[in-house]
Amino acid sequence: MGSLNIDPELQNNSVSCINPLDSEELRRQGHLIIDFIADYYKNVEKQPVRSQVEPGYLSKCLPKSAPNNPEPIEKILQDVHEHIVPGITHWQSPNYFAYFPSSGSVAGIIGEMISTGFNVVGFNWMSSPAATELENIVMDWLGEMLKLPKSFLFSGKGGGVIQGTTCEAILCTLSAARDRILNKIGRENITKLVVYGSDQTHSALQKAAQIAGIDPKNFRAIKTMKSSSFGLSPDSLQLTVESDVEAGLIPLFLCATVGTTGTTAVDPIGPLCDIAKRYGIWVHIDAAYAGSSCICPEFRHFLDGIEDADSFSLNAHKWFFTTLDCCCLWVKNPGALIQSLSTNPEFLRNRASDSKTVVDYKDWQITLSRRFRSMKLWLVLRSYGVTNLRNFLRSHVKMAKLFEELVGEDKRFEVVVPRNFAMVCFRVVPSTLDKEPVNKFNNELLESINKSGKLYMTHAIVEGIFVIRFAIGATLTEERHVVAAWKVVQQHLEANLNMI
Ligand SMILES: *Cc1c(COP(=O)(O)O)cnc(C)c1O
Repeated sequence: MGSLNIDPELQNNSVSCINPLDSEELRRQGHLIIDFIADYYKNVEKQPVRSQVEPGYLSKCLPKSAPNNPEPIEKILQDVHEHIVPGITHWQSPNYFAYFPSSGSVAGIIGEMISTGFNVVGFNWMSSPAATELENIVMDWLGEMLKLPKSFLFSGKGGGVIQGTTCEAILCTLSAARDRILNKIGRENITKLVVYGSDQTHSALQKAAQIAGIDPKNFRAIKTMKSSSFGLSPDSLQLTVESDVEAGLIPLFLCATVGTTGTTAVDPIGPLCDIAKRYGIWVHIDAAYAGSSCICPEFRHFLDGIEDADSFSLNAHKWFFTTLDCCCLWVKNPGALIQSLSTNPEFLRNRASDSKTVVDYKDWQITLSRRFRSMKLWLVLRSYGVTNLRNFLRSHVKMAKLFEELVGEDKRFEVVVPRNFAMVCFRVVPSTLDKEPVNKFNNELLESINKSGKLYMTHAIVEGIFVIRFAIGATLTEERHVVAAWKVVQQHLEANLNMI
């Protein structure tokens, strides 16, 4: 009767009795997980910072297919501990100095839990009014903390939106700029539009230009120089724009950076905006990493001139204690974003939207569905307050100054570019070495340090110089970690010099 071939799933009816959203089970498992995460933070300092696994390690540890029957959380957590943790690069370790930080906090984690807990999909106001209105409010709060001109805030004629990442923020603003101009001059002219950045601008701009349909020939990465600390020179921009205009092209968009990824260079916003204004260029200010520091009066000058820009973004998930993802974008003219990004299918129609008295964030971003990200930012702002947030950032800058001094005291090293924020770019200088090519030596030094697991740093290459980046900003980093890190660097230098 075929009974030998009964599907195991049909045999085991008990499985289907599980309620996947049982509140008591959530309470029990939730407490376990909080304990697990708290213990993780307690011990994270002991972990090798950069993961030491080899590619493909995980498939050797896990079964070939998903389980047919349920497994208990205790068993799953055991596997997280044994198999996942070794494959984690510990961004939250106090000895993490790579890329830019992803500074976490209790408020950020708890805020994320609340928003995940509600699990709402706030694409328009009606779909969860609190999600939209809280985002309006915290974006104005943060905008005021940064002393952004009122024209960027809802309380002016602008407004803020939380995107996932800077890549999305740039793509959305570039699309807005593109459509604003093409609606005037005709869609067929898209091949004439030109996008500007410097050779230090994040690759996010190039990606955005590719997606937005800008001809790759019309993408300008204007050369910067060490002598001007790798900032974009207004004269170079002027010359480049002029020659494009002469060639019959149409300048569209400039992405200026406050705190470049390579060396935290700052482009002079005011003078660049003056030029952009003359040609009707949309100026976006990318302050993904460094923007948060501008809540401190002593760093606010890096944003001087922003009143003439069109849009501004920073990543609260980098150096502002908010978990990934949380890119804060402000625009002066939300109408331009909406014109470019809105669609209005019947199934989303509702009275609030029709009344045009509410913000429907689906029209300010790429995707329709969106997370309730403002919750975590609200928790961060409230749990610490402006005064503490400023002091956290200042403590990182102070530690970077200390590291810079330590590098300066050792004649075998040099600080390659002046420090602006909490990152120091340094290297072993050529005179220390006999025959070894300098870049290769610094590269090998960096790799030997990272391999040790004691700390993690990454590199940049500027004007052909390989620099080691020491980026402070992990929330748990204290002065003692910075001092210890410097000792590790010196020890590895000595060991590596002995090898050549
Ligand atoms: C990190 C960074 C980016 C990219 O940020 P995502 O949020 O990962 O897209 C862009 N620009 C600068 C200056 C950055 O430091």
